[in-house]
Amino acid sequence: MVLTTLVAALTFDVLVSAGHEGRPASCPHFPTHKCNLGASGERAWTPIVADAAADVLRAHGVTVARLPADFDGHYNVKAAVFIHFDGSAPACQSGASIGYHTADDAAAAQLWRQLYARSFPYRFAPDNFTDGLRDYYAYRQVTAADGSLVLELGEITCPAQRAWLAPRLRWEGALIAYFLSRLSGKGKVPDPGPSPAPEP
Ligand SMILES: [Zn+2]
Repeated sequence: MVLTTLVAALTFDVLVSAGHEGRPASCPHFPTHKCNLGASGERAWTPIVADAAADVLRAHGVTVARLPADFDGHYNVKAAVFIHFDGSAPACQSGASIGYHTADDAAAAQLWRQLYARSFPYRFAPDNFTDGLRDYYAYRQVTAADGSLVLELGEITCPAQRAWLAPRLRWEGALIAYFLSRLSGKGKVPDPGPSPAPEP
């Protein structure tokens, strides 16, 4: 006799996960995940961007699974992003980058790069330039028809990049909301355009 456990997948339009959020408290419950706490300051920033993106998406009628770093279950969505900032030692060797597990998601990555490169004044590292980008632990918990991407929004350990990013976190969220809306065809989120002057 074979016992099969059927767990219904959770269905949303899009999924937005804040990298490292909830750690280290969540780590003991997910022993197969590396308990990576992120670069210095990263854990404080990823939820701000993720919350801003979720707020904009929900205001336009898009259903959002807004998740921390570690979560149970399987999600069926149109598009998913896992938000991070990179760290580098020595500093300023990195920049923004994009990760994805299959070539099917390369077009989504190209669209994000095109949108973000209008404003981000520092370098983009090549797509999937680390194993962590290509084989991100949470990809396996998400089925995303239109793309599942890790977005590294810049190098938080580089003082110049950090100074550029710090006053723009909610704009980053608005741009991600536009990207996800466009990618998924859900909602009609407006393009916030290139980054305005820094937020107060
Ligand atoms: Zn990270």
